[in-house]
Amino acid sequence: MPGPWPRRPRLVVGNWKMNRTAPEGAALAGQLVGLLSAGRPCEIAVCPPFPALDAVGVPLRGSGVHLGAQDLHPEPGGAFTGEVAGPMLAAVGCRFVIVGHSERRHGIGEDDAVVALKARAARRDGLVPIVCVGETLSEREGGLTTDVLVRQVRAAFQGLSEAEARAGVIAYEPVWAIGTGKVASVEQARDAHRVIRATLDHVVAPGIGQSVAVLYGGSVSDRNAVDLFAEPEVDGALVGGASLEAAGFWRICAAARSG
Ligand code: PEP
Repeated sequence: MPGPWPRRPRLVVGNWKMNRTAPEGAALAGQLVGLLSAGRPCEIAVCPPFPALDAVGVPLRGSGVHLGAQDLHPEPGGAFTGEVAGPMLAAVGCRFVIVGHSERRHGIGEDDAVVALKARAARRDGLVPIVCVGETLSEREGGLTTDVLVRQVRAAFQGLSEAEARAGVIAYEPVWAIGTGKVASVEQARDAHRVIRATLDHVVAPGIGQSVAVLYGGSVSDRNAVDLFAEPEVDGALVGGASLEAAGFWRICAAARSG
């Protein structure tokens, strides 16, 4: 298991989703590394699709930019056609893995139990899980945001030690904000992050919520990042569409430094 962060990191993660072939991904990573030659403004990771991991890892080597994957199977290996195991991701150089992204919860039917198994598998296999949580539009409109966040965080973190909890990252991603251009307000993000930290205090140990990095995700761009990062509850961002263009993604990372 990767060690706990010495303190909450400023972290910006690019989720490339099902975009970029291996050569395209290597070129994009190379552009990003070029822009970072003057210095790395915060912790940065990019999560390309599985077939591009190896190629993207080449320009990232020695740059300080971490490699991450978008999913893993709970088992470390075996007869699971089409799946990818944590040890395979670690072997190709991944440090992070996204689990429970809403496109998997709602598009593929992953439930809280599966997400919890994947988060535990990530730790077992030496990876830092980025556990995604967030409510749908109808849940928010129905006043269920807190209930949903408490349920999802509880499922993923119950039974963990403080060190195990601190060695993970949570991404608050309201489903209605993902890929829609409709970013949550700073107040909505702050309130949700407070619910997440309070739930960690309750299910892991009092005070632990202040030690776990909580990112915001949902239509983050270089236009709204400064305001989001100025909120002390927001430790960074999980960025989808805007991570597919190096200069814009770099500007989001730069905003995290000054936030
Ligand atoms: C995501 O994929 O996690 C995401 C937040 O996407 P976007 O930034 O495109 O809304």
